[in-house]
Amino acid sequence: MKRLYSLLRKIFPAQWHGLLTALLYDLKIKPTINKKVKSPFTKGIIVLSADFEMAWAFRYSKTKKNRAEQMGLKERMNVPKLLSLFEEYRIPVTWATVGHLFLEKCSNEHGTIPHANMPRPPFFENSNWTFFNGDWYQHDPCSNYKESPAWYAPDLIDQIMQSSVGHEIGCHTFSHIDCTDKNCSPDLFEAELKACIELANKKGIQLKSIAFPGGTNGNYLTLKKLGFTSYRKKANYNIDIPVIDERGLVRIPSSYSLDKSKYNWSVRRYIKMANSFVDNAAKNKMVAHLWFHPSMDEWYIENVLPKVLENIRKQVDENKVDVLTMEQLAERVRS
Ligand SMILES: [Zn+2]
Ligand SMILES: [Zn+2]
Repeated sequence: MKRLYSLLRKIFPAQWHGLLTALLYDLKIKPTINKKVKSPFTKGIIVLSADFEMAWAFRYSKTKKNRAEQMGLKERMNVPKLLSLFEEYRIPVTWATVGHLFLEKCSNEHGTIPHANMPRPPFFENSNWTFFNGDWYQHDPCSNYKESPAWYAPDLIDQIMQSSVGHEIGCHTFSHIDCTDKNCSPDLFEAELKACIELANKKGIQLKSIAFPGGTNGNYLTLKKLGFTSYRKKANYNIDIPVIDERGLVRIPSSYSLDKSKYNWSVRRYIKMANSFVDNAAKNKMVAHLWFHPSMDEWYIENVLPKVLENIRKQVDENKVDVLTMEQLAERVRS
């Protein structure tokens, strides 16, 4: 099916690709469901996770590096709106948080490089980012969250923690590195995660779950060693069950990214699409893992997201699904 789809995408001109994708949903070919396994769950499970990263995610982006600060500020503006929606529908989310956001300030001590104690990744390129010159921390404003609000967010982390719905704070590395074994040594990975663990501990938070930046999954041995229990990873199917991997970590499949796409779909189309994941998780007693960037499109937050959350809430109230954080799901799978 995947091959047929890529063939069709090659045959049809680009302006048709949106229609083609929509058609897959109309024909119920998408979302794909893993029918090869028997689900151990008695109802569907919905997981939501956010890549909470602000300007850090975009510094080396091939397409957005000139807008890193702007993206960070957009994210800052969106987070309170998102939190009030999650409150309204009582939906907990795992916020995979870049460690630097815990800081109220940082400084370029002794006039050296920022975060001189942190190891740097070597120059690299992956499908989304290029880091070819300068110091890894060259964009760090070495300032504070009031003066450079795109680079620090202790206030937003407090807001997330104070929410009554029981959000989880997870990890997204300290400086949004590429975590693949190819581009990240175990030492770099360990230093990044230890910095996050230490900062989180100061706020009374135990980090248990990670979303690898840009899907750069890797360094699992170190992840396990540092006490993490789960990570998010794209699986062969959109609707699937988590598995305990060879290192004893729970691999939670990711299903769908909540945001406006490049296609000009209607509000109705977006709602229908996102709901199809939730409905299929309920029907098959499997997991739908919806993830998003808090810097997502405002139009989507206003028009689509409330309807998606409303549907999740309805299914929870009808006892068809549970909404779990990544940590809670990992606990359930391991017990
Ligand atoms: Zn800094
Ligand atoms: Zn990210």
